[in-house]
Amino acid sequence: MDCEICGRRPAYGEALIEGAKLMVCKACGKGAQMVAKREVKKESAPMERSEEEEDVVEGWGRRIREARERKGQSVEELAKEIKESAAYLQAIEAERMKPTIKTAKKLEKALGITLIEKYVVSGGSGLEEKSFKEITLEDLLEAQKKEG
Ligand SMILES: [Zn+2]
Repeated sequence: MDCEICGRRPAYGEALIEGAKLMVCKACGKGAQMVAKREVKKESAPMERSEEEEDVVEGWGRRIREARERKGQSVEELAKEIKESAAYLQAIEAERMKPTIKTAKKLEKALGITLIEKYVVSGGSGLEEKSFKEITLEDLLEAQKKEG
């Protein structure tokens, strides 16, 4: 929509001019009381990268030890079952070491517990969010050029 006063520039917003609501461009609306700004929403959502990450839950050592004790297994027995060394498993239980996702998965399976939590990491697009944008004919032509 073009400015209702000059008709030359795209309308910026609705201004109250002499009691009438008119769509005006920035220049014509200067000094006038603006009624409402015309919000131009982005057509497509910002390019957001979101990845699903896995991590070992906090307190893994206690969870593993309690589950192992419920099963009545010794550290050695459980280590054998998951094909890891007893020293490594002991270090994990004492939380001196954090199990790898691979080891944690083996422990989950062996003990029937949850040790891995999934969370979504989302990174911003890095683009400044513009809440207000004027679309000019040049912009539209530029957009058409890009599409074609
Ligand atoms: Zn104007």
